[in-house]
Amino acid sequence: MASKKSDPKKTAPAPDAPEHTRTGMSPEILKAAFIDNLTLAVGRPLETAVPEDWYQAIALSVRDRIMQRWVRQFEKRNAPDVRQVAYLSAEFLPGPHLGNSLLNLGITDNAREALAGQDLDLYIGLEEEPGLGNGGLGRLAACYLDSLATLRYPATGYGIRYEFGIFDQAIKDGWQVETTDKWLLPGNVWEIKRPNFAQVVKIGGHTETFTDQHGAFRVRWIPDRVVVGVPYDTPIVGYLSDSCVLLRLWSAEAAQSFDFADFNRGDYYGAVEEKVFSENISKVLYPNDEQLEGKRLRLEQQYFFVACSIKDMIRLCLRRGSTLERFHEMFCVQLNDTHPAIAVAELMRQLVDKYAMPWERAWDITRRTFSYTNHTLLPEALEKWPLPLFGSVLPRHLEIVYEINRRFLDEVRTRFPGDEDKIARLSIIDESGEKYVRMANLAMVGSHTVNGVAELHSELVKTQLFPDFHDLDPKRFQNVTNGVTPRRFLGLSNPGLTRLIDGCIGDSWLSDLDRLRELEAFAGDAGFQQDWMRIKLENKSRLARIIRDRTGVVVDPTSLFDIQVKRIHEYKRQHLNVLHIITLYQRLKHDPRLQITPRTFLFGGKAAPGYYMAKLIIKLINAVADTVNQDPAVRDLIKVVFLPDYNVKHAQNIYPAADLSEQISTAGKEASGTGNMKLSLNGALTIGTLDGANVEIREEVGAENFFLFGLTCEQAARLRADGYNPGDYCHGDPELRGVIELIDSGLFSHGDRELFRPLTAHLLERDDYLLMADYRPYVNCQQQVGHAYRDCQHWTRMSILNVARMGKFSSDRAVREYAANIWKLKPFTPDP
Ligand SMILES: *Cc1c(COP(=O)(O)O)cnc(C)c1O
Repeated sequence: MASKKSDPKKTAPAPDAPEHTRTGMSPEILKAAFIDNLTLAVGRPLETAVPEDWYQAIALSVRDRIMQRWVRQFEKRNAPDVRQVAYLSAEFLPGPHLGNSLLNLGITDNAREALAGQDLDLYIGLEEEPGLGNGGLGRLAACYLDSLATLRYPATGYGIRYEFGIFDQAIKDGWQVETTDKWLLPGNVWEIKRPNFAQVVKIGGHTETFTDQHGAFRVRWIPDRVVVGVPYDTPIVGYLSDSCVLLRLWSAEAAQSFDFADFNRGDYYGAVEEKVFSENISKVLYPNDEQLEGKRLRLEQQYFFVACSIKDMIRLCLRRGSTLERFHEMFCVQLNDTHPAIAVAELMRQLVDKYAMPWERAWDITRRTFSYTNHTLLPEALEKWPLPLFGSVLPRHLEIVYEINRRFLDEVRTRFPGDEDKIARLSIIDESGEKYVRMANLAMVGSHTVNGVAELHSELVKTQLFPDFHDLDPKRFQNVTNGVTPRRFLGLSNPGLTRLIDGCIGDSWLSDLDRLRELEAFAGDAGFQQDWMRIKLENKSRLARIIRDRTGVVVDPTSLFDIQVKRIHEYKRQHLNVLHIITLYQRLKHDPRLQITPRTFLFGGKAAPGYYMAKLIIKLINAVADTVNQDPAVRDLIKVVFLPDYNVKHAQNIYPAADLSEQISTAGKEASGTGNMKLSLNGALTIGTLDGANVEIREEVGAENFFLFGLTCEQAARLRADGYNPGDYCHGDPELRGVIELIDSGLFSHGDRELFRPLTAHLLERDDYLLMADYRPYVNCQQQVGHAYRDCQHWTRMSILNVARMGKFSSDRAVREYAANIWKLKPFTPDP
């Protein structure tokens, strides 16, 4: 591989002496650092070091260089006029750090040279992934940290240091099997524990009123128990920016590991139990995506990290010599969905109860502090807590929520007198049956801005989800279309394509993604197309080897790689994809000489462990794979693969190998999607519905370079309103009927005719996600895809244009929009 160290843009500015010898970036100094860390930190003689030791030594050396940048930025960050953003998120899905940090520091090639023939990629591949998120939402938070650092914004990501992240998925007999994710077992070199910034958090109990020494009426919260939140810091370095942001994750510890009072009374086991009980709070990530979990522990997790984070901000605010009157000038706080929405009540509690601020003043500060990102319209994902549960975990917050609500609804009443229905819809408390606290309403009332995550979604937030809030204050609503970091998802994942692009238009596009448009000029260039196709084929061959090693299935790298990787959910319609596969299978069975475009169908994704239908869909995919892959009648024209344990690490191998990106959710259900962006950025063409960011991707790449099918969101709504009968579609389409009958015949289930009946019965009787209505347009559109793929030149041209026109979907653009329109945040000026 060509060394880029001579290119000044690829290497961050060299630090000044004397640090230079310790944290320099040249191959020579890196080599010395690796060996130093191997000996002094890992404690291994060179001769006996195993790859895991080398990984640790290299990672520690990289961390040293990040830390140095972090520390050097200290004064800038703490200057009195600096406002910073706190990004509150219950999930972060950063992916392995080493490869990305090397890339961002600009020292990948130097590190390779320093290792003189040792396999850097092997070491990079050894890193455990911090699976502290379920999917898109956590991954978005990680992309935003990368962009915040790259663009030099002062920022902290606050979240939870789950001891066990998202479960590891294995497939046994076609079914998903979950095992615990023990990501911390090998140790985590990227984090630094900060016990001196620990915070104490109260939980449960009751409140009391009292009169303070100034004669003022006050409330005090007497908790049942307290836990300690200890922060672990991971600095995230920006791309060639010399700037860092902090990921600060809270871990729960018992207030006193050994309660000597109990111990002396002889209650040793009581003390141990208390420790175990407290530490449960950050034990495990709830594995639900787009589905709420109404468990006490989940509410405790949310409150735990929010309380720690708000107290941390207050500490920083006061340490910098400011008063809490200026809290909102020091911090803007972004709520990543409603998971941290309790922050609204917590900041009020701190200001009013602890710092004795008058309610009106505290409320003004609170409203100026928070903004809220909505991520879903699915009713089953909108968080609400049963009132008794909420009150028993957070008795004081319940009182505060009532007071916020009372004042808010009084305001509403003066504007809409007598409209009690409207008031009931706006209320933070749902009183229609069993009473609930609606977290989205709390986030809305307590924020100055709310945004959706794609243009279509933001419109639906206004018209479907919060029409009453929109009537009240339309100015509060904004859109920020999601983005992804091109560093990890092109620069790091697809080095072949990165080199080709660099050679063509230079390398500035990685921090200025709009420059990819310069590739348009080469879209018709035969030589460039050849290179483009060669790289895609190399990426597909690499993925084919991974597929063979991990599943035993042999796939043809020259076949069309048709890829659907994302959480398994009915609204994402993996089963619509399966219906198409069975359609092709059926056609080949009926006409053994039929010529179709050879395809490899690849699926990946986890199902929530309690989501029965999603797990049945996984079983169906694997059952169809078993039958189709072994049937000689198919003549290897179709291969179906379910790649287990889809995560960021695997995603990085999958995206670069995709020809076709499946984005086939029921219109109106996918808020944005980001997998769609990552795949298109790697040269996949999209087959998709007009949903989420697909709409904008199609606008950008051009309708002629996008395979569109299916009902629009308005058509879907009308169809449902007019009385949707899925059975009619099935009975009116013999091919579709044949597919359903084939599933019901037991062909894919060793004769078991009942196994998939819950799925087929749901499709015929309810079909909430309109698969039957979209089946024929989808299958026809797939036929166009197969046809188009045969024209290699034209396909390649479309692929190049897709990449060239993806500039909008950089997370840099999204973060700039948040900073300019919502946070009113200025970046640091670069060092001279
Ligand atoms: C990008 C990403 C997602 C989100 O995918 P969607 O297709 O937008 O749902 C989920 N999981 C991982 C590991 C990702 O990298």
